[in-house]
Amino acid sequence: MGAGEFSAARPPMPVNEPVRDYAPGSSERERLLATLKGMESERHEAPLVIGGGEVRTGDLYQQVLPHRKSHVLADVHQVRPEDVEDAIVAAKGAQAEWASTPWQDRAAIFSRAADLLAGPWRDRVNAATMLGQSKTVHQAEIDAACELVDFWRFNVAYMHRIYSDQPLSGAGMWNRMDYRPLEGFVLAISPFNFTSIAGNLTSSCALMGNVVLWKPALTATYSGQLLMELLMEAGLPPGVINLLHGDGAVVGDTVFKHPDFGGLHFTGSTAVFKHLWGEISANVDGYRNYPRVVGETGGKDFIVAHPSADVQQFVTAVIRGGFEYQGQKCSAASRIYVPSSMWDEVSERLVAEVKTIRMGDVSDLSNFMGAVIDDRAFAKHRGAIDYAQRSSNAEIIVGGGIDDSEGYFVEPTIIRTEDPQSKLLSEEFFGPIVTAYVYEDSKYSETLELVDATSPYALTGAIFSNDRAAVAEARDTLRYSAGNFYINDKPTGAVVGQQPFGGARGSGTDDKAGSMWNLIRWVAPRTIKETFNPPTDYRYPYMDEA
Ligand code: NAD
Repeated sequence: MGAGEFSAARPPMPVNEPVRDYAPGSSERERLLATLKGMESERHEAPLVIGGGEVRTGDLYQQVLPHRKSHVLADVHQVRPEDVEDAIVAAKGAQAEWASTPWQDRAAIFSRAADLLAGPWRDRVNAATMLGQSKTVHQAEIDAACELVDFWRFNVAYMHRIYSDQPLSGAGMWNRMDYRPLEGFVLAISPFNFTSIAGNLTSSCALMGNVVLWKPALTATYSGQLLMELLMEAGLPPGVINLLHGDGAVVGDTVFKHPDFGGLHFTGSTAVFKHLWGEISANVDGYRNYPRVVGETGGKDFIVAHPSADVQQFVTAVIRGGFEYQGQKCSAASRIYVPSSMWDEVSERLVAEVKTIRMGDVSDLSNFMGAVIDDRAFAKHRGAIDYAQRSSNAEIIVGGGIDDSEGYFVEPTIIRTEDPQSKLLSEEFFGPIVTAYVYEDSKYSETLELVDATSPYALTGAIFSNDRAAVAEARDTLRYSAGNFYINDKPTGAVVGQQPFGGARGSGTDDKAGSMWNLIRWVAPRTIKETFNPPTDYRYPYMDEA
């Protein structure tokens, strides 16, 4: 068990944070709009935070609003190699005390953080996520507020469950598991697209008693900065989490060569994760421990319609699953498989629905979509749309418009391809682009095989069908095609405590964020056997003279 093992304390029972709807006329909407206005009217500063102190390097990056790129939200101080060294020293300095802090105190700090976020910090963190990451209010609310509150509350309960898992003890002995934090420090590297993931990558390790260096995405700096402030207000001791903005390679170069590097907690693209895995492997001889490597990465998430599916339910799932947050969820639907008997109706309704979608500045709450995150993402989406336009076996059935004059806007786009191996069906574009493949109704089984084999990823996927046998066949054929599998639901929107999240193959190590399976990676269990009355003679009875 961790420090504090002898107390029988039971942490609070977690419940999912209710989602606010921000309906017109509500006080929550008025408060949020006022917070947005106030936040927009200032130019903020994001220093590094090392050992609880702010560090201003003067090497600045401007975080802009993706939907209004001339507007600077924050000037971000970028990390230098010497800051990484300092952060390691600070983390190691905090390590012994944090590791021996009773688990109840660690639990209380993150439970308090959850309540601060659910209460006084909610509007600020939501507003920073809306402005900096171009999320609509609903997308910010389910991510930055509710999901992160849930991570913080549920992880405390999972920690308690892990600590409670104790071995049997035979007569005359007592066996115990001591769930030690890792001996080394953890590097958490977070993506731009979920404020909650940034909060969880760092805090899940810290909750288990580890010390952490945190490198958030530059395009999600300001929401990350607020989380750091919130955690310190909640009582997180200096040095337990150290915040380093800037180029990941600067951090990695120092961290991956350090003998006390104990683990990587990563979420981001597959290519970056593979690169980091390679760096870690190349340095493995220098580490005191084999590092824990946990990564949740890309996806090419599918929705399959069986001929028995309800057309409108399927179409709604495609729109929500494919275009909410501009398709920039790792779980976003980006390839759909439609039986030919349904295609005319499906395509007609998809075109009609997509044309009703409003896209624009997220401070205008009537918009369903904002902008994509930056020029790099915009260029990638432009490339995919150009490819579809040039391609002889693909056709854009709706959308395809792009405009970066004010912000990085990409229209919700649906493409149909006749090539089942098209890169439109296998590559992750991470934008509002959904590609459809129409299959012959009689080839449902073959199509399931095709879905399984087409992309290197296996993150999320869904089957729509009103035929139980067809559902069962999809569930079985696609057993390894997705770590989160949905039946008659869109493949996005996993809720902590309800659908633990993560995939395998090219999508990651499947360590299921929002479950005890993730927290288990951040402990190094020690088995203790205590014998009450030890033997005093080495001889066994069988050795006695007959
Ligand atoms: P990214 O890979 O570009 O960046 C992720 C993080 O890695 C950032 O903090 C970045 O600065 C850092 N990084 C980049 N190169 C680095 C290097 N050489 N050394 C150290 N750090 C480095 O990803 P992104 O654009 O921020 O996020 C989108 C990706 O994340 C998509 O592929 C998406 O599918 C994936 N994602 C997956 C999940 C999941 O749970 N599976 C969840 C969210 C996002």
